[in-house]
Amino acid sequence: MTARRDELARNLDTVRGRIAASCDMAGRSADEVTLTVVTKFFPASDVRLLAGLGVRHVGENRHQEAQTKAVECSDLDLTWHFIGGLQSNKAAAVAGYADVVESVDRPKLLRGLAKGARASGRRLDVLVQVDLDPEGSTASGRAGAAREAAVDLARRVAETDALRLRGVMAVAPLGQEPQAAFEKLREVAEQVRLVDPGATWVSAGMSNDLEAAVRTGATHVRIGSAVLGSRPSGG
Ligand SMILES: *Cc1c(COP(=O)(O)O)cnc(C)c1O
Repeated sequence: MTARRDELARNLDTVRGRIAASCDMAGRSADEVTLTVVTKFFPASDVRLLAGLGVRHVGENRHQEAQTKAVECSDLDLTWHFIGGLQSNKAAAVAGYADVVESVDRPKLLRGLAKGARASGRRLDVLVQVDLDPEGSTASGRAGAAREAAVDLARRVAETDALRLRGVMAVAPLGQEPQAAFEKLREVAEQVRLVDPGATWVSAGMSNDLEAAVRTGATHVRIGSAVLGSRPSGG
């Protein structure tokens, strides 16, 4: 366990250094960017080690796995971000343990999320996931609402009592310059802020493109492999 702890500590240092350097280059303060460590495919024991190393935000993308880990780690002071594709019949259950749902991409999810949030007696933080793929592209299968639909969806989130609109999230399209995609996200983020000035979060940037994301105004980066190592393929 100490070997794993050391490995995670080293990787975290590197990632925190990358975030700090990109903030510096962009003239931003490092505390403007929140690091969410994506622990999917890795065991609850890693989540525990990360918490011991000062990580406060963790991300998961599959309901069953996320729920199990959140229960196993319920004694830790962690904020759980759900970042994966969401089925509407699972939405209420996800709202039972997630603190933030970043992958809201259609109105159909809102009723279940609100129901789950009410059942656990709190307001759920929500990000609208935006599809940044070039128009007409069919190749990727990435999730997210089209850009115009995203602003409508944000409006609906803002109108739903148990949900709190926080901002937007996106994944850069595969095999393309992330910078241009993140610029589009920034435009959508500005429109979403017109819906609710408090919706200031922009979750963008993963292990390979966090620098571009920070440069383009990301407030949250979601980092998996650069901290935990490579996942089994398919993740
Ligand atoms: C897995 C995942 C990440 C982390 O990806 P890495 O490349 O391992 O950093 C970030 N965001 C989402 C939505 C993911 O599914």
